[in-house]
Amino acid sequence: MRAVVSSGLLPSALPALVVLFGAIAWAQPPADGPSDGAAAAEERAPRRRARTARGGRGTRRGARAAEAGDPSSVSVGRHNRGRLVHGAELREGEHLRFKSPDTDHHHGTDELVAALHAAADHVWERLPGARLTVGDLSRPAGGRFRPHRSHQSGRDVDVGFYVVDLEGHPVEASRFMDFGPMGTTRREPSWRFDDARNWALVAHLLTQAEAPVQYMFVSRELRRRLLAEGARQGAEPELLARASEVLYQPPRGGRHRDHFHIRIYCDARDLPRCRDDGPHHPWLRGSSALADAERRGRTGLEDVVEASAWFSAPPSEVAPEVDPERPDGRRTRRAGARRRARRGR
Ligand SMILES: [Zn+2]
Repeated sequence: MRAVVSSGLLPSALPALVVLFGAIAWAQPPADGPSDGAAAAEERAPRRRARTARGGRGTRRGARAAEAGDPSSVSVGRHNRGRLVHGAELREGEHLRFKSPDTDHHHGTDELVAALHAAADHVWERLPGARLTVGDLSRPAGGRFRPHRSHQSGRDVDVGFYVVDLEGHPVEASRFMDFGPMGTTRREPSWRFDDARNWALVAHLLTQAEAPVQYMFVSRELRRRLLAEGARQGAEPELLARASEVLYQPPRGGRHRDHFHIRIYCDARDLPRCRDDGPHHPWLRGSSALADAERRGRTGLEDVVEASAWFSAPPSEVAPEVDPERPDGRRTRRAGARRRARRGR
């Protein structure tokens, strides 16, 4: 596995590897992984019971009941065309801070908000001293807001990188900092991409079951650093395989050199109103994501093959259904034209 990671994942061999890993994962689900359906179901049981008592969630009737009285969140529609009902508000805490505290862009599904606090706590426990920096989630009721195209249905979040100084002490930047392949930033010569904490964040998010992660968009160079760090720390091959799929530089939109864009799948209780697009990762068999795929008449194996083809295709051949979001702070060409048009009027 080490050879695979260090050689840029041999795109041509990836589909076979992914199928293999998928088969292994299905046959022997890791005890702590999201594919442990029984454990996941147990963790979810309290909320499921609470909702059942209010009339259920997987039906239209349940969905209407949800909007009427159930305070649990519902992600409606797609990441780039959707809204959020009863969104949970993320709050700053001991281990989590906002990049921009004065916005109302900190709302997400119950699962996403809980997962962010859990991730921040986890990294702090493993490597104390650094808070997780969180940028935009969604607006209170979701919908579109600039500069994002996604972030509409409470399942997307921008997260800043953990950063250290030359002595290895954590530093907190007032903005997202972009890092190159050497883990350095031109903005501040003495700051470094914190490989250990950033990998700890990735590893945690890919092994928790409450909010299965579909993507962590990040630049190619930083993806390589993170996979190398995981291998250096002796991460399980299964975890490295997951990370190699989920960490991804989207072909359009920002290169994500200054933050992770994280997207989670629809929660099963938000179906069928919540809509996921592929890929559905093989290790999520038994989870809401694959259940959704199966509900749409697709088998797990098709999704494994589709996912591996999608991830190994060169950028120009990738279907443009991936996140077209622009990096924070920049505007799309069309937005610039609109602005110029307004000034002209
Ligand atoms: Zn984003």
